[in-house]
Order: sequence, then C-alpha cells, then structure tokens
Amino acid sequence: MYLKEEMNNYLIDLLPDKEAWIEEMEAEALTDRVPIMDKVSMHFVTQLIRMYQPKRILEVGTAIGYSALRMLQANPETSIITIERDEKRYKQAVENIHQQGKEDNISVILGDALEEIAKLDGMFDLVFIDAAKGQYKRFFELSKPLLSSSGVILSDNVLFKGYVAEPEKATGRHIKMVEKIRDYNKWLMQHPNFSTSIVPIGDGVAISVRKP
Ligand code: SAH
Ligand code: MG
Repeated sequence: MYLKEEMNNYLIDLLPDKEAWIEEMEAEALTDRVPIMDKVSMHFVTQLIRMYQPKRILEVGTAIGYSALRMLQANPETSIITIERDEKRYKQAVENIHQQGKEDNISVILGDALEEIAKLDGMFDLVFIDAAKGQYKRFFELSKPLLSSSGVILSDNVLFKGYVAEPEKATGRHIKMVEKIRDYNKWLMQHPNFSTSIVPIGDGVAISVRKP
C-alpha cells in the first residue's frame, strides 16, 4: 500500500461488495502470503479493461489466478494467457480457474516468462506485467513484438511500497529491487515508442501505450 493509509482505507471502504469467490481468493492469498494485486488498483485495472475491452490479454505473473479472473470478469469475452513459474501457485491458479469454470478463457502456462513469452503466437491488446520486479524491462521488451498497434502495457508495483520514491528507506533485498524499478520507470518514461503514465494507486501502476 502506497497511498496515504487513511486515503487507501477510505477507497477500500467505498468499493462495492464483491462476490464470495473474490473475497475467498483474497483470503487465500493473505493466508499463503501471495502478493496479489492491491484491492484499489485491481479495481482500477478492471475499469481500464471495461473502457478498453481488450480481446486478448497476456499476463506475466499469475500467482493464484486472482487478477486473471478479475480481468476476465471485467470483459467476459476476453481470452487470457497467463504465465507462472512457481508450480504450487500454478496449481492453485488452475484449480481456482476451474472452480469458476473459466478454463476456456484463461490458459495458464507453467514456466519462466523470460522463456515462455517468446514462444507465444499472435497479438495481444493488453499485457499485464506483475512478476519479478527486477526483470520488468526484459518482460516489456519480450512482450513488445506481441503487442497490437493500439496495445497497452500495464506494469504493477512500480512504486513498490513507496520505497521507489524514497530509496534511502529501503533495506536488505529491497535495495537492489528498488534500484531496478527506478531504472525501469526512468527508461519507460523516456521510451521513444511508448507514452507512459504512472498512477500512484495501490502499489503503483504504469500505463504504457504506443506512440502514433
Ligand atoms: N498477478 C497476480 C499476482 C502475481 S505475484 C495477482 O495480482 O493476482 C507475482 C508472481 O509472479 C509470483 O507468483 C511469482 O512466482 C511469479 N513470477 C515471478 N517471476 C516470474 C517469471 N520470470 N516467470 C513467471 N512467473 C514469475
Ligand atoms: Mg503486483
């Protein structure tokens, strides 16, 4: 959570009630310490999806399938390919997607996205990058050739717990990660072919679109 705590709590309180399966997945993630997307930014991403209506989505970092199912719910005709390298989480995701009867719309690939993205065919209207924070530039570069001309790339956690703006407060393994995210944000904002806006919601979401 990056917004001022009172503000984030206020925004969480305002969110409309969600179906039981969503609450259950949020609880499952909390118990298993799975870093699923923050509630307020997840709501924001579903709104972007309702506006933009991407036909095909590529997600890098499935975890337990929470964000994939929420994105699908925002545009039920969408087809989503999502990649997860952790076998336990992959299995949880497959099970959760099966429980919701959404296996026709969401296919989960078990593997390292650094290898799997290049094997994919066809174009994607939206790419959602939400995996290892130190690899974002590579995920972005690998996804670029698969992005349709009006495509959008979203990157989650680009303000990582607020440390990205105040790197001197980061400690331990976060220090290098925060450096890499800062480097990514700078690179992304200066990208000659993409226009990017970073929204300080949840843990920070970057929205990148191709320049005309
Ligand atoms: N998008 C999910 C949360 C993803 S958490 C949601 O909001 O519901 C990040 C996930 O990315 C973790 O489960 C981690 O195992 C996975 N991951 C990290 N690096 C990866 C890589 N190189 N390839 C595939 N998955 C990766
Ligand atoms: Mg995230």
